Amino acid sequence: MNVSGKKLELLAPAGSKRAFYAALNSGAEAIYLGVDKFSARRQAENFSLDELDDVVREAHLKDVKIYVAFNTIIADGELDSAVESLARINNAGVDSVIIQDWGIFKLVKEYFPELKIHASTQMNTHNLSMVKMLEEAGASRITLARELAIDEIKEICGSTGVEIETFIHGALCFSYSGQCLFSSMVGNRSGNRGMCPQACRMSYKLLSAGKKDEVWPTPGDHILSTKDLAGINLIPQLAQSGVSALKIEGRMKSPEYVATVVRVYRHAIDRYFADPDGFEVSETELDELREVFSRGFTEGYFKGIKDDRLMSYFRPSDRGILLGRVTYLDVYTARLGLQINRELCVGDEIEVWVSRGGRVRNKVEKLFVDEKQVECAPAGSKAVIIIDEKRHKINTGDRVFRVHNERLIQAARAAITGGSAQKTPIELSARVEIGEPVEIAAHVSGRPNEAARVVSDLKRKKASDGRSPKPTSSRSSTGSAIRSMRPRRGISGSEKA
Ligand code: SF4
Repeated sequence: MNVSGKKLELLAPAGSKRAFYAALNSGAEAIYLGVDKFSARRQAENFSLDELDDVVREAHLKDVKIYVAFNTIIADGELDSAVESLARINNAGVDSVIIQDWGIFKLVKEYFPELKIHASTQMNTHNLSMVKMLEEAGASRITLARELAIDEIKEICGSTGVEIETFIHGALCFSYSGQCLFSSMVGNRSGNRGMCPQACRMSYKLLSAGKKDEVWPTPGDHILSTKDLAGINLIPQLAQSGVSALKIEGRMKSPEYVATVVRVYRHAIDRYFADPDGFEVSETELDELREVFSRGFTEGYFKGIKDDRLMSYFRPSDRGILLGRVTYLDVYTARLGLQINRELCVGDEIEVWVSRGGRVRNKVEKLFVDEKQVECAPAGSKAVIIIDEKRHKINTGDRVFRVHNERLIQAARAAITGGSAQKTPIELSARVEIGEPVEIAAHVSGRPNEAARVVSDLKRKKASDGRSPKPTSSRSSTGSAIRSMRPRRGISGSEKA
């Protein structure tokens, strides 16, 4: 619950079917995903319109909502196709569509008035006036611009009845709320059409205007690359601000990332509501978030920070976690000695930040402590690994990062596949009377509202007739009945128990 007594929803990304299961099985209360071509993450695997029925049904069986990101800007020539897609999305029974384009907003209101609209963060809603305008236009939820401080979010939440959602974890854009033409200019791929090639993550030089040979000094090569947002420590303040949903970014991220981040945030949110005064986030949780993907974390705009502390000038990609330092390299035996401050195990991958000459990545295939081969070397020990290459210039004292934690990834994979095998209990009842059609009713245990009823085409006859209903006819009736049990907007009376 947030401060208004409303449930605080954890909203997770799914760029693929595996990421969907990762979110579903790790504690998300809602999942957002893209279909077809009208999604701000067109380079993700995404979902076909044909898959959407099944995805919605599986999510609803677990009481998880599905929001479809329909959040690109759409050209006149695409409107027919967009409306056709929206009709199928609506029929699938999704819980909302996330929209950026005001034209699409109007069309949804006109043709699918029962379909809820969430105003995408791409709408760049950063003040109360815009919130009120969206509320009056009929948005049921607004995802605020990521650049707002918690005080500003609180003020907005206190002045509107519409649900407010905010990002809590994941990548930040350099540009304001994704309003970015940079990727169109640099790579001819528009971020506003879901095609951003992450131009801001590349390395650039800062030149003096009109003097191309005059290069200005910069703090690092990646002068536009931001750190990642991590608001886990601010869950209490965000819950008290009145927001309705906390959103995790990452439809382009791996299913393992989704499983890990959702699990960590699920536990943190639950802990907060169980004991608000005792809430804290453990170092282990922060390490797991850092290890599954991080460009370095910031609480950024939530705390009103708008300076260098937001930036990741040196590393625009995953940086892993500091493991320790190099103690020696024996180039003849390819043995690399490490003083480690965290446990290291076979299967992990490390990266040595070589003081002169870049980075050297290596998978840990063999690991030794005190000359004994081990599976894991404990934190605080001197470990030795065999490296693939002998030629590189690793030096004593170089920093070593772990960039792949095998056990963390295996735990995430177990959640993705194990969870999908979990059964959902269903209660079934049947009514069989002579001369009457057979009726079967079913509902998800504990949720009588999620129910369906099927009625046979055939009437039950007395056994003494010596004839049974033809099985072929019965099978066909069952088949159509099962199809009719898929959750659908506006279930007819005959399908509802
Ligand atoms: S180029 Fe960078 S700032 Fe622009 S939309 Fe892509 S990620 Fe965002």
